Amino acid sequence: MSVFFISDLHLDAARPNCVTAFLQYLKTRTQGEELYILGDLFEVWIGDDHETELSQRVVNALAECPAHIYFMAGNRDFLVGAEFARKTGITLIEEPYVIRINNERVLLLHGDSLCTKDEAYMRVRPMLRDPVFQKQLLMKPTAERLEIAGNARQESQAHTSKTELEIMDVTPEAVIEALIANSATTLIHGHTHRPFDHLSVLSNSTGRRMVLGDWDEFGWHIYLEDSDLVLDSFPI
Ligand code: MN
Repeated sequence: MSVFFISDLHLDAARPNCVTAFLQYLKTRTQGEELYILGDLFEVWIGDDHETELSQRVVNALAECPAHIYFMAGNRDFLVGAEFARKTGITLIEEPYVIRINNERVLLLHGDSLCTKDEAYMRVRPMLRDPVFQKQLLMKPTAERLEIAGNARQESQAHTSKTELEIMDVTPEAVIEALIANSATTLIHGHTHRPFDHLSVLSNSTGRRMVLGDWDEFGWHIYLEDSDLVLDSFPI
């Protein structure tokens, strides 16, 4: 039994290669295993009731995959809900989520909560993750939700392009705090699109922060091999 972690595929009909790569990944890499999807599987998700050709292909592929699949929402697909879980058979999990690997506590996050220097985003984040706000949003007609999502995406792109790179990365203190608060020694997250295996992030030279990459020309995943977690990429 092995465990796989992926995030930030940003699946979008405009990038068919990435969609094909994901469907292929489900078929070939994760048979009978556990797969954790740590957010931003979709570039945009306006509700489980909005079916598109893309959503149907992904739902079918997830439903057919024999792996036990866990899904944690990211900042782009936080409206993935119970209906999606029912149709795909996946298990929805909420961050912070801790699993045990080799008797050690491994903390799973999407990663946006760690970017505390991005004050503008940190101000709207609690609202976006608020169940009442989400419920109200889901009651709006599809056309209105599509418009809201389109505007949010444009604003986000404009914000990202004018915000310093350092601000868009995780804050080291937030990483330490999250590890300590969850009594974890390893953290796996995505969101920043800066894949890397950081060792010794705690002051006593322990603490590992493994960052998944976004899927573009390469796909990224972390998996367990010979009792060690490995960060790896493959061409798409
Ligand atoms: Mn993200």
